[in-house]
Amino acid sequence: MGVILFGPPGAGKGTQAAAICEAMSIPHISTGDIFRKHLKEGTELGQLAKSYINKGQLVPDQVVCDIVASRLTEPDCAAGSLLDGFPRTVPQAEMLNTWLTQNQRSVGAVINIQVDFDILVARLSGRRTCLACGATYHIDNNPPPIAGRCDKCESEVVQRDDDSVETVRARLDTYAKDTAPVLAWLEPRTVVHTIDGSQAIQTVRSKILSAIQG
Ligand code: ADP
Ligand code: ADP
Ligand code: ZN
Repeated sequence: MGVILFGPPGAGKGTQAAAICEAMSIPHISTGDIFRKHLKEGTELGQLAKSYINKGQLVPDQVVCDIVASRLTEPDCAAGSLLDGFPRTVPQAEMLNTWLTQNQRSVGAVINIQVDFDILVARLSGRRTCLACGATYHIDNNPPPIAGRCDKCESEVVQRDDDSVETVRARLDTYAKDTAPVLAWLEPRTVVHTIDGSQAIQTVRSKILSAIQG
């Protein structure tokens, strides 16, 4: 079954993704992680994405949709996948819907993690990310056991360029303008489980797992 993990930047999507994927035996597809991999490898796509990401803007719909469509055709996605950070605009949702219909696939549920904007600013500016494996931490709420080191792969954890205060504001504006309307588009079409993401990481995790398994 396909699942969409939806919510504003900093809601905790990346933090919760591994537990959902493990519970459902589906792969994690994060469009943000895909772009960061291209950025790190210095590909043409990475260069293009960087110009949007560092301004807090969205990468153009067609570019994102082509990447997701090609990822979804890989064999490990045959029984479903977790889409994290996609769709982020109504046109992306429409393109996904068309692709799913054409490929006899479907999305069984949406998990919407809801968190107030003032909390998001504190979460994003304190976030630290392992650029090697994508794991995220928080300097106060969820620090790695050894300061500055990822406990999953031992690489260095750093602050993403787009987690600077100015870019965070731009990303939250982009979310309100372009991404929040996607929820209203999804609601009549798919089961949406809205979870209060302001609670502790473990609490949010168990609420998500009972929503999808219940
Ligand atoms: P997203 O993928 O939705 O942008 P992340 O999972 O990267 O969000 O989380 C953003 C930041 O908030 C990270 O620093 C993470 O450690 C922290 N965080 C995630 N969930 C919680 C929570 N329930 N309570 C406190 N901090 C959290
Ligand atoms: P966050 O975890 O904070 O929500 P992501 O890692 O998902 O951020 O995304 C980082 C950036 O990558 C976004 O601000 C945007 O520029 C770009 N991006 C990721 N997913 C999409 C998408 N579906 N459509 C357009 N741009 C995207
Ligand atoms: Zn790591």
